Amino acid sequence: MKGMKSTSGHSTQVKHIPQRTCLACHQIKAKRELIRLVHTPDGNIEIDTSGKKAGRGAYLCPVWECWEAGLKGNRLEHALRSRLTRENREQLIKYAEAQLKGAN
Ligand SMILES: [Zn+2]
Repeated sequence: MKGMKSTSGHSTQVKHIPQRTCLACHQIKAKRELIRLVHTPDGNIEIDTSGKKAGRGAYLCPVWECWEAGLKGNRLEHALRSRLTRENREQLIKYAEAQLKGAN
């Protein structure tokens, strides 16, 4: 048996832009407009600026409000299916404060 083949022959100019949802405000945006957080295989929560790290990812807008909202509750934990330690949370807040809060 053969696998299914896509037969969309007519080439309309549709560019495929990967989109992701911000876990705080639920806006759908182009993946590269969001900041990826990743739960790495060794159990860390890291900010993945390259977008290529292995692990379960979650996305937030590069906006302080979204980080605040996302980090306050358990939304991020939920999205990453992981427990955030105090350290993790503080690290992320620090990042957001440095990168986003003062950045206007
Ligand atoms: Zn957002």
